[in-house]
Amino acid sequence: VVEIIDLHKRFDDHDVLRGINLTARRGDVIAIIGGSGSGKSTLLRCINLLEVPSAGEIAIEGEPYRMKHGHSGIMKPADARQVARIRSRVGMVFQNFNLWPHRTVLENVIEAPMIVHGVKRGDAIERATTLLERVGLADKKDSWPGFLSGGQQQRAAIARVLAVEPMAMLFDEPTSALDPELVGEVLAVIRDLAGEQRTMLLVTHEMAFARDVATHVVFLRDGVIEEQGPPQQLFETPQSPHLQQFLGRLS
Ligand code: ATP
Ligand code: MG
Repeated sequence: VVEIIDLHKRFDDHDVLRGINLTARRGDVIAIIGGSGSGKSTLLRCINLLEVPSAGEIAIEGEPYRMKHGHSGIMKPADARQVARIRSRVGMVFQNFNLWPHRTVLENVIEAPMIVHGVKRGDAIERATTLLERVGLADKKDSWPGFLSGGQQQRAAIARVLAVEPMAMLFDEPTSALDPELVGEVLAVIRDLAGEQRTMLLVTHEMAFARDVATHVVFLRDGVIEEQGPPQQLFETPQSPHLQQFLGRLS
């Protein structure tokens, strides 16, 4: 369970998130939609502590993030071990894959389990091999990321996140850097994961996909949740004029 309570994030004098309340329970697949600059990435980055919230509360499985005020008044994580714990509980898949370029696909996948969780190399390799099979990359395990297609790289990145057995997975526009013909293979992997009672938060511009796999859709505008609900309701009978306009523009 990921709980977000009255979350604020400010950069200098720009209030990017202005009071977000959102709970993602086990099995929830929450699609986050909204225009460019509405704060979608910032919201995911706060959950993973890639950004430190300015105010509010986040808790994973009932464990709240502990923050303290630094001397400039800016909050910072109170405890480095907690940051590591949070990152291993919430895995993030990025738009640009972010694989380590000088390591093979297999090495990318076994790194975190070995370093962060102290899994033995042999065990890590065994599990990574299963995960790479699952995402259809068994034959690419010894390849360098740079020699893979974008779709293959993204599937490797998903295997890497799965390797730490996260409680929740965050996806930030996982297909928007891909050539159109490669989008489907990545969405298929995500769809498969969504059917497994995980907790997922997914920022996407793939509205048909969101409608299909999400259990709940959140429309973010200007740092606030302007509208939310089940996909059918949100897409078929949007209430907010901004959401109507947003959806109209896309179709
Ligand atoms: P997109 O659809 O283009 O990815 P988004 O909804 O993900 O947009 P964010 O990346 O969360 O939007 O950015 C929200 C706002 O916060 C933008 O105005 C952006 O310029 C600003 N912002 C994001 N990160 C920073 C930062 N590190 N420093 C200053 N401003 C930032
Ligand atoms: Mg973004």
